[in-house]
Amino acid sequence: MRNRILIFFVVPLLLLSVCAAQAREEAPAAVAVSRDRDGVESFFIFGTGATGKLADLPDELRKSGYREADLSAWSSQIDYDRLLSALAQKGIRVTRCYVPDSGKASWFRKNLAGLEPRERRRRPLSFVCALIKNNSYNRRYKLPGRFEAVKYVTIHNTAEPFSARQERDRVDSRRDNASVSFHFAVDEQEAVQILPLDIHGWHAGDGAEGPGNTQSIGIEICRSQCRGAADWQYRRSEENAEILACALLRHFKLTAADLRMHRDWSGKYCPHRILEENRFESFRSRVAERLARKPDSEEREILSGLSGK
Ligand SMILES: [Zn+2]
Repeated sequence: MRNRILIFFVVPLLLLSVCAAQAREEAPAAVAVSRDRDGVESFFIFGTGATGKLADLPDELRKSGYREADLSAWSSQIDYDRLLSALAQKGIRVTRCYVPDSGKASWFRKNLAGLEPRERRRRPLSFVCALIKNNSYNRRYKLPGRFEAVKYVTIHNTAEPFSARQERDRVDSRRDNASVSFHFAVDEQEAVQILPLDIHGWHAGDGAEGPGNTQSIGIEICRSQCRGAADWQYRRSEENAEILACALLRHFKLTAADLRMHRDWSGKYCPHRILEENRFESFRSRVAERLARKPDSEEREILSGLSGK
């Protein structure tokens, strides 16, 4: 399909012209549209990676606004210069973008993207409950069933540079029938809950019967492709994951021995950053130390979010 995309004309736009004026000031949804040889138009939502036939663009996406551009899915198909000028003509302000090819990434940062966020003094981790929508699509592919018991907390790395909210939106907006979900995404500022705590997800790769999927809460540590100048975003995301993991263990009356890596369930090389740097046992022991103490204010905020207070 991608190879068939010959003419690439970008209509990065505020899809709903009704709210154009308002959206322009807030967070315009940048949508790229491509047309293949047969005239079939496909869309791509920046920031979520959602793609599909233009005619099937879900309503909820039409109403959404995204601030960041994800160009990774285009790579070699895109006409970068045309994209850039189309974005500029439409008045779309792209604040950041990511591309897989490092040579192109710097070109993009210079020409299209805004500045990387600057490292700030640590600010408290906040807890956000933003469950994915309970529509027929998400029920079928992303809300598999009730937990009988939660016995583990499983740690992942996203292998992406995206924020926790973006990871959440990517799950919510996928329409490719893939069963992919997790309970929490955590980045340098937020822990975002996307599934209820009594429903198991599809994150461990061990199928519908496996203990990874059916007995464990999945945490995605975001920003694991933020390296170099952006490395601090990953470091801080991982520190925040220690707080979140500790709160979950406490909530479910588990111990640090009940932490697992994705790799433990299915052999997948995940969490890749922690594995590359051989730090899972030190992660576990920092969580254990934290668990031995009384919860601090950041953890208390998560605990009260988990218990719905
Ligand atoms: Zn994983």
